[in-house]
Amino acid sequence: MPGLEDLYREIILDHYRNPRNRGELETPPAISADGHNPLCGDEITLYVLVEDGVVSEIKTNGQGCSISQSSASMMTQAIKGRTLAEAEALIHHFKHMMSIEDHHHDEPGDAPALGDLEALQGVVKFPVRIKCAVLAWNTLSQALESA
Ligand code: ZN
Repeated sequence: MPGLEDLYREIILDHYRNPRNRGELETPPAISADGHNPLCGDEITLYVLVEDGVVSEIKTNGQGCSISQSSASMMTQAIKGRTLAEAEALIHHFKHMMSIEDHHHDEPGDAPALGDLEALQGVVKFPVRIKCAVLAWNTLSQALESA
């Protein structure tokens, strides 16, 4: 993808080639949700295990472009071990970075750190790819709604 800074491109490709938390979880007790981005052909299946209000385990399966799959990989890293409230805050924070959502709610204290996910902020320059980047996050919202 021309236009993305080299460092960001490297982080994205690293997650694409070596996806973190790849696999499946038994349902139940885990919840699963499917996401599909027909514009690009990206598919994600997400497995989330919530214990005592904490996302104790999270796995993804799927296929698609480097943006969709690396975003899913980075998301699992960012979400694992978070409380449901923290996960919600991260979803909003990421969507805000992707220019999909305004910050209407007041977040107490610092916004959650996005870490590697900041590599995806360059994607905002490519509106068609934003749907690729948020696919995993929309799928996560879907899964958490049934948690
Ligand atoms: Zn895509």
